[in-house]
Amino acid sequence: MGRVVVTGRGRRWLASGHPWIYADALRETDAEPGDVVEIVGPDGDALGFGLFSAGSKIAVRRVARSGPRPDADFWRACIERCLRARQEAGLLSADHARGATRLVAGDADGVPGLVIDRYADVVVAQSGTQAADRLLPELVERVADALPFDVRCAVNRSDASVRRLERLEPRVEILYGKLPDELLVREGELTYEVDVLAGHKTGHYLDQRDNRARAAELVARLAETRPVRVLDAFSYDGLFGIRAALAGASSVVCLDQSAACGERVLRNAARNGVQDRVRFERANAMGELRALGAAGERFDVVIVDPPAFAKNRRELAGAERGYVELNRRAVELVEEDGWVVSASCSYNVLPETFVEFLKKGAALARRDVYLDQLTGAAPDHPALLTLPESRYLKCAFLRVAPSITLGRS
Ligand code: SAH
Repeated sequence: MGRVVVTGRGRRWLASGHPWIYADALRETDAEPGDVVEIVGPDGDALGFGLFSAGSKIAVRRVARSGPRPDADFWRACIERCLRARQEAGLLSADHARGATRLVAGDADGVPGLVIDRYADVVVAQSGTQAADRLLPELVERVADALPFDVRCAVNRSDASVRRLERLEPRVEILYGKLPDELLVREGELTYEVDVLAGHKTGHYLDQRDNRARAAELVARLAETRPVRVLDAFSYDGLFGIRAALAGASSVVCLDQSAACGERVLRNAARNGVQDRVRFERANAMGELRALGAAGERFDVVIVDPPAFAKNRRELAGAERGYVELNRRAVELVEEDGWVVSASCSYNVLPETFVEFLKKGAALARRDVYLDQLTGAAPDHPALLTLPESRYLKCAFLRVAPSITLGRS
């Protein structure tokens, strides 16, 4: 039964809608690691309830603006709200039975520190905080109760590096059930494999699902009039690239630095019957894009989906150089009238800043580049306005004009 008293600054910060209270905004603390705490203002005013983390810079994450103190019923209602939103987005419908969905998206969903994904009928939970560690078994149960199908297996995949900030050890275990020997998931026309114990995140990058569909639609449109060569840089398991092949690309190169990804790319390509059109190259994408350009290689669609270059504000200057250089090389590699699909998952890089980086890349490449669409993450990754950290993903669809337009020197 913990309690914290915030400073005047802490109260103003909460009033702005941001749900996190930093340790230096606490005046008094009477709580154990992971406790649900009552939040009290400097004048004794009730400011709601939150989850306490000892040792972390983010000391309290607010979950309720007023009482009563969150209990089992509170969390059941919270999980039901999360699942209702996915249902309304069509992500739990019968035709999505073999699909993958982020069921609970952590802080943005009012469940700080806890992500719960499902891959077909396997549920994977990932905790990054002391309180989420405590809540995880109970909330996985609530998810299983509320899902419209039976859960075959539930996994705790809590090994993200953010746990170090909370002084938590990695924890990976099967909570119940048995993992299938091969876990296959559907996304559009694509069937792909998932390694929920060792793959990135909980196994895959679900936030890019709709952007992969958009890229596939783009390829299909272009393929009506010409052969479409695709480069999928930072490919992970090749989902962008293989969806492009299924949409009619004449050839696809998937590029990633990880050999394990390469094996999964090739198995996924074979599984979908496009192995004759999909190639994997293990390389540092930055250097490889430059080398391909210098060798005169050209593509009709270049996809660049790198890891976060700016993990914090201090890394912003380096990140700018990285994004500008990467996008410059991507634009240079594109055939006239081709496309670049360019993503950034650094939340420190705001959408308008990202567009600025893209602009600089286009200028250095000396091409006229049009911003066709700037999208975010799929709807099961909600973007809470007052939590900018939840609006991290940007994906730009860029058309590179033919050189006859003005501006090419
Ligand atoms: N586009 C993917 C997700 C990409 S995640 C999808 O839709 O599923 C980023 C990927 O970049 C990871 O697979 C990581 O192995 C790879 N990566 C990170 N740094 C790299 C580098 N310098 N060169 C090549 N690949 C890199």
